Amino acid sequence: MALLSRQFAKYLKQKQKKKKNERSAKVDSSSKNVQCFECKSFGHVRSECANLLKQKKKALTSIKSD
Ligand SMILES: [Zn+2]
Repeated sequence: MALLSRQFAKYLKQKQKKKKNERSAKVDSSSKNVQCFECKSFGHVRSECANLLKQKKKALTSIKSD
């Protein structure tokens, strides 16, 4: 049991490290020279698109009112 938790802690550590790396890489690529596939404008990615967020909000509202 003790060994298992130790391995798990190691696993979590590796996971966090990986996450951090992915995050910094994402920031580098999204800071500039990116194009939004939703509204075709530059400077942000689709996941950060205001248009998409609006659509999501709309969808959520329609589900709620249903
Ligand atoms: Zn956009």
